[in-house]
Amino acid sequence: MSCSHSHSRPTQPAAAPAYPELNLSSGAKWIKNLTKDRLGQFNGGHFGDVNLGSALFTRKEDGKDFVDLKVWSAPGLTKPSFEEAMKQDFKEAKKGDSFGPSWTNHWWKVTLTIPESFADYERVQFEFDPGCEAMIFTTDGEPLQGITGGYGGDRRVEYIIPEAARKKGVHELVIESSCNGMFGMAGGGIGPPDPNRYFSLDMADVVVPNQEAWRLLWDFQTLRELVDTLPGNTPLQNKALVTANAIMNTFSHTDLSSIKRARHLAEDVFGEGWEKLGAGIYDEKDGERSLVWGIGHCHIDTAWLWPYSVTQQKTARSWATQLDLMERYPEHRFACSQAQQYKWLEAQYPTLFERLTTQVLAGKFHPIGGSWVENDSNMPSGEALVRQFLFGQRYFEAKFGKRCETAWLPDSFGLTGALPQIIRGSGMKYFFTQKLSWNNINNFPHSTFNWVGIDGTQVLCHMTPVDTYTAQATVGDVNRAITNHKNLESSDTSLLVFGNGDGGGGPLPKMLENLRRMRAVTNNNRELPPVHMGRSVDEFFDYLSESTNAGKTLPNWNGELYLEFHRGTYTSHGSIKKGNRHSEILLRDVEHVATLASLIGGKKYVYPKQSLNDCWEKVLLNQFHDVLPGSAIGMVYDDAEKLYKEVRKDGDKMLDDALDVILGDSQRVTPTTRITSLDRVVAYNTTFFPRREVVRLPLAAGISSAAKAQVSQISADGKEGYAVVHCAGGASPAALSMTPITEAWGFTPVSVYTNGSDHFVLRNSTVQLTISKGRITSLLDVHLKRELIPSGETGGLVIFEDRPNFWDAWDVEIHHLEKATQLEFTNVSIVAQGPLRASVRAEVVYGQSTISVTISLDAVPATTKLDSRSMFRFDAWVDWHQRHEFLKFELPLNIHSDTATYETQFGHLQRPTHKNTTWDMAKFEVCGHKYADLSEYGYGVAFLSESKYGFACQGNILRISLLRAATEPDAEQDQGEHTFSWAVMPHKGHFLESDVPTAAYLFNSPLYMRILTDGASARALETTTNSPFAVSGAPNVILETVKRGEDDAFKAGGPATIVLRLYEAFGGHANAQLRVAAGLGVEEAYETNLLEDASEDVPLAVVRSEGMAHQVGLDLSFRGFEVKTVKLVLRGKKMKTEKRESWVTVDA
Ligand SMILES: [Zn+2]
Repeated sequence: MSCSHSHSRPTQPAAAPAYPELNLSSGAKWIKNLTKDRLGQFNGGHFGDVNLGSALFTRKEDGKDFVDLKVWSAPGLTKPSFEEAMKQDFKEAKKGDSFGPSWTNHWWKVTLTIPESFADYERVQFEFDPGCEAMIFTTDGEPLQGITGGYGGDRRVEYIIPEAARKKGVHELVIESSCNGMFGMAGGGIGPPDPNRYFSLDMADVVVPNQEAWRLLWDFQTLRELVDTLPGNTPLQNKALVTANAIMNTFSHTDLSSIKRARHLAEDVFGEGWEKLGAGIYDEKDGERSLVWGIGHCHIDTAWLWPYSVTQQKTARSWATQLDLMERYPEHRFACSQAQQYKWLEAQYPTLFERLTTQVLAGKFHPIGGSWVENDSNMPSGEALVRQFLFGQRYFEAKFGKRCETAWLPDSFGLTGALPQIIRGSGMKYFFTQKLSWNNINNFPHSTFNWVGIDGTQVLCHMTPVDTYTAQATVGDVNRAITNHKNLESSDTSLLVFGNGDGGGGPLPKMLENLRRMRAVTNNNRELPPVHMGRSVDEFFDYLSESTNAGKTLPNWNGELYLEFHRGTYTSHGSIKKGNRHSEILLRDVEHVATLASLIGGKKYVYPKQSLNDCWEKVLLNQFHDVLPGSAIGMVYDDAEKLYKEVRKDGDKMLDDALDVILGDSQRVTPTTRITSLDRVVAYNTTFFPRREVVRLPLAAGISSAAKAQVSQISADGKEGYAVVHCAGGASPAALSMTPITEAWGFTPVSVYTNGSDHFVLRNSTVQLTISKGRITSLLDVHLKRELIPSGETGGLVIFEDRPNFWDAWDVEIHHLEKATQLEFTNVSIVAQGPLRASVRAEVVYGQSTISVTISLDAVPATTKLDSRSMFRFDAWVDWHQRHEFLKFELPLNIHSDTATYETQFGHLQRPTHKNTTWDMAKFEVCGHKYADLSEYGYGVAFLSESKYGFACQGNILRISLLRAATEPDAEQDQGEHTFSWAVMPHKGHFLESDVPTAAYLFNSPLYMRILTDGASARALETTTNSPFAVSGAPNVILETVKRGEDDAFKAGGPATIVLRLYEAFGGHANAQLRVAAGLGVEEAYETNLLEDASEDVPLAVVRSEGMAHQVGLDLSFRGFEVKTVKLVLRGKKMKTEKRESWVTVDA
């Protein structure tokens, strides 16, 4: 092989010379593996001064004559805008100067001088490498592109100097460099950030690259990837090796004209004239079809090893870079998710957002996913998932005139079986992920399949066989798109999602160059699957749907996409879990009462739409898939907790304002309130369930003995009274019950017994719990005389050694179950004696930690359901200082079942309690929402949770996970004080016959206690005020959400609508009637999707039957776990307000 090689095409062979008679040569056989190894010596390395690497740059200049640098460092961790930065005093700076510490921002004014002699070069560029991330701006503040310094594979330090600037000879730029790497400060791992890292300016050079040498490098790399990737001894693999070897023989560093000859050789594999086609290389003739569809992407974790504020910069850098690339590579299409990131960009980089919008409208920049952030999908409530899409889709529609069609959660740690229904309800039918390729036990069996959710709704799902959302667009990636496809028998097309990610970046030019070469190869050869560029992800899914007879020829996967990995994320960072759950409930309640207030408040009250939106956006942001799971650095949780605090404050204010309208002037009861008269105390129940509960009230010191007599129980210090509140209907106020407990109530007083040392028994008429020698030794159903704890076994707190194999905050590994220590309650004492509430307080001192648990039993049953048992409530205060230990609460139960039941969004699901198969074994720690339950025929026991999401049921032992203590990426994860609660609830009948979902709902829903301050009587209010909404006919249908319509005009005069969301909670059909107060003046009622689009169908029939003098009814039929959204259009914009306390007259 030499430069005299002939380049005639195989299809047009040159006339071959006659076959000689004599042969005196040595023959041409090679040693293939040595030739293969040789390819590693063509660029850089030991021969870097004489191989192609030596020819990549023609000039590199960094002298003051070429580059003038001035710098200003922003104080502390501030992040000034371009305009603010430009007002500062800049100092001289030079290459080699050091900048820091971590997370600081530094602004540069750069003046480049380009000599006239550079005019002949194809390209002149400025290379700036501050070792960290940076953004290049024009002197007017227009963001141009991002810089990724350092020496990783994602390095991008070059900026192409525009032609006009070269002609002018001088070019000025502004650069913001930020002292963090692509992956924060962790130095490549997942450790906590080093707060004191400094970066040095390694490059600030005017550079002339030898473009033809770069193109040869890309040619050679594609050839080499073909050699390394294709199965050995195929014609194409051999041809690529022969060609690459010939290129090495042809190149000479002393004769750069050899580069052109070497590139000509590559056409043997890529085809003659391939390069001239440019993006036209992807043009397909009739009948041709690509198997791999490439889409540029940049996964930007909204917070992870860096805080939110850094993500805002990453987004701008990454997306500016992609807009720049689109101009040079017309085939480049870029898909990016997360409305929140677009909104940040719009606010902080408005001109960049305008350019982005232009490319969205041109069809090149593709918003995708339809959600606010790429959320965790295990823990957000059903309603919160709805809002992820409602807020996301509304944003995309408002800004770009178009909603997304494909849901996109490539990196979320498991995907709930509620998601297909929520995706379809949000106007999408396709779903992309890849995360299950991370399973550490079983290999997920499908690539393209119908994902069928718990309610039977399906979405067309593609789990890319490339097994990553950060593909490097190598030959290996493209090949794997087919060779790793799990169900080629039913579909043979794959999506290649390429571009650097997690910390941002996106595709590099070399990826787009490589893809063109690969496509060139496959235009002549089919040993590699052909790749296509220039289409969208939506088009890809449209094609999948068309080519599989609308999914009929695809396999199905039913239920959740459980990730067999990262099981510690249901527990890591207790504070974020609590913030999430409590905020979700608070916003649910605020929307409900604010809707009612807006109907009766007249001009005095305006529905606080903007404030609600702001709160929701904060909650949705914190649901990002590295924030809510507890897998981010400590800085992120400082931000997240601040956001929850704001939601709490604003939510409380909105709640107070609305309740003032509904109840009249009133004050919230807080621990510092001192109650003098019980007649004016009212409890507001925001749930649609009737409830009867024991409440605790702070009493004023001077309370009269007559008033004191009204409370059935007073705390030992006399400062608190206990009373029963009976809310006969749902969603209304109730006064305190003043009559003493009698059998007529349906329950008898609760009591607590002790032997004076280590034996305590809490008992009422339904259940009894015994703590003996520090452990729970007995749980008894009093009515049935049924003991629920197996003889000789005990329940209580337990500690597991928690040392996962790598991903510390993410993973609890199966072997943690092998090393358990049961903890004993010590110093147990009685703190409440009954008759309404009996409590014991216990202490556990373990290692450096202290745990205080108050175990309480009330006289009342868990719900108003006939036969309901009471629950045992556990209120814990923990000062936690363990490391790599896992605190759980467990109960061994006299109940046998192959499955346990866990609440998920809008329903529940079952997981195995055994280890029959590896799929069963993998679910040794699972996510649940408000309850987990182990039931057999006739009986069951549930754990209720108000802020914990990790559960397990191994055999007959039910566990709730309480606290972990990882040290990466947050060294201080969960250290310090925690308060949380859970409950143990025995119930007669199997879970499916039980009141567990109701009890769990109530356990999470506070009764809002208020004191009426305008002289009104609580009793009078109770009898005149009732909810305008109720569900009848189906106890399995829950009315979850009441809100005003998204498109309402919240000032006077606009249309007024009310949106109600209901779901079937047990998994079976239901015919329910939604009853609405006639006084609301419902003009029309529609069933809508989750985005509140009224369907074109006929409105729902409004039933006005006899016996419903003051209500109208809407008949709704559900299938199991179905979610329905109903929109009521009201006549006139508000209710009559003459008698505000009686917008509904209660039927006598
Ligand atoms: Zn991610």
